[in-house]
Amino acid sequence: MSVPETSAAQAADAIIEMQGVNKWYGKYHVLRDIDLAVRRGERIVICGPSGSGKSTLIRCINRLEAHQQGRIVVDGVELTDDLRHVEAIRRNVGMVFQHFNLFPHLTVLENLTLGPVWVLKQPRAQAEATAMRFLERVRISEQAGKYPGQLSGGQQQRVAIARALCMAPQIMLFDEPTSALDPEMVKEVLDVMTSLADGGMTMLCVTHEMGFARQVADRVLFMDEGRIVEQNTPEAFFSHPRNERTRQFLSQIL
Ligand code: ADP
Ligand code: MG
Repeated sequence: MSVPETSAAQAADAIIEMQGVNKWYGKYHVLRDIDLAVRRGERIVICGPSGSGKSTLIRCINRLEAHQQGRIVVDGVELTDDLRHVEAIRRNVGMVFQHFNLFPHLTVLENLTLGPVWVLKQPRAQAEATAMRFLERVRISEQAGKYPGQLSGGQQQRVAIARALCMAPQIMLFDEPTSALDPEMVKEVLDVMTSLADGGMTMLCVTHEMGFARQVADRVLFMDEGRIVEQNTPEAFFSHPRNERTRQFLSQIL
């Protein structure tokens, strides 16, 4: 596959580059002039009001949504209509959703081995060994034979994280992974995400868990009306928000 040249203007070690990205849903202009370069191993938290475009932004990174203007380059591959590029990028990018999206008719273990066996063409025994390793890592290996409906929300979300990791992604995207959970289950999921961050994974997390942002993020982005209106280290972001909308938002959630 051809590897498009990266722009000299952006960080040379960027694993994700978005330049002048615009997207519309019909006439609705949902992403406006997004410029973002993410370094390998960087941990980014994205916050902002409901409807500001956070989900759309991260879904554009693995082409769950298509952008209409600008460039998105992921690990040297540009996202275009070329399906080979889209497939290459999707293999490299794991995603965890608010509502887990596990296959209800498959066991936990089968959920984890489906992609490795059918997409990566791994032998089943190898896929199962890898799956068990990741289930141990999210501390849920004893549930391997159960169906998702037999697990708590926090357990299902940890399974969803393990499933994404089985594809050996370079980048993990999280879209409000704890917002559908009962409060007592939030911590077990954030702990798994924190250990992933400590292991050097490149992560973009849409979340309003500001304790997690303070502890884990290298950079916090604030979105409003389709734009990244402010970004900073967590220390500066929380102690000296510069934008009036950021201040309003933080006063509502902190
Ligand atoms: P956020 O994740 O910040 O809440 P989203 O990216 O989900 O924001 O949505 C941004 C805006 O785009 C919202 O106004 C939403 O209603 C709209 N939107 C999201 N998905 C679609 C879609 N598939 N078709 C039309 N409008 C959409
Ligand atoms: Mg969203």
